[in-house]
This record gives sequence, C-alpha cells and structure tokens, in this order.
Amino acid sequence: MSGKIISWDCTECKRYVQIPAADQQELICPHCRKLAGKTKLLSEIFQSCPLCQCRQFYQEKNFPQRVGCLIMLVGIVLVPFTYGLSLPVFALIDWLIFRRIPNMAVCYRCGAEFHGFEIPVTFKSFLHPIGMKYDKYRNPS
Ligand SMILES: [Zn+2]
Ligand SMILES: [Zn+2]
Repeated sequence: MSGKIISWDCTECKRYVQIPAADQQELICPHCRKLAGKTKLLSEIFQSCPLCQCRQFYQEKNFPQRVGCLIMLVGIVLVPFTYGLSLPVFALIDWLIFRRIPNMAVCYRCGAEFHGFEIPVTFKSFLHPIGMKYDKYRNPS
C-alpha cells in the first residue's frame, strides 16, 4: 500500500469517508456507494481535485487540537510536583509531536483531504479570502 489516502464527507450519507488512493480509481463511498469522483494519475492529483475539479488547495497539519491541549494540560497538572519544569518539557513534547505530523492537502472547494501525498511547496495554509470564495460550494443553502 502506498499510504496515500483520500478522504471526504460523503454528500449523500454525510459520513466521513477514507479510502486508499490509486491511479484511475473511482472514489466511491463505502457506506452508500455514492460516486464522488475519479482519480487520474496520483502524481498529477493536485492539477485538479478528483472530486470537484477545483484547482486550489491548502495544506494543514493532520493534528487534532485537543491532543495538543491534553498534553499541555498534563504539563500544567504536574507543575506543583516538578517546580514548573513540566511546562517547558511538555511544550517541547507538544512541539515534537506536532513537527512529526505530516501535512495534508485540502481542497478549497469541496474540502476533500489528501493524506500521505507529496505536497507542492506552493500550497499555503488556509487563506480566508480564498476560503470565502468557495464557501458557497461547501455550505449549499
Ligand atoms: Zn455515503
Ligand atoms: Zn474538491
């Protein structure tokens, strides 16, 4: 297995779907069989999103905020026993874990996530002005 994973929120059953990515693969929801799109070549996946053909992506750490908070909380709880030393130590642990978490790319338009891919350096963190542009696609009303 390549370790590349594409995930998205199924538009049909609203579930969070994760499937291993491959060339020329149909992206089908395993729960309701809804076809979300089809990949071309994985090496060219960021030319356009296989789900919505959007050409803009941003990159993000796949790191749940609450894990970081939990680590810091333990550090704070231990302060009386470690004369405050636990704080910098746990902040360091927090940072080390964060650094090891690989980035993922996220499609601006449909929010599909691309895990384990080589992310082009041109991809920036989420930019609000661009996000606003695509809001209407992600929250249909
Ligand atoms: Zn589904
Ligand atoms: Zn997309």
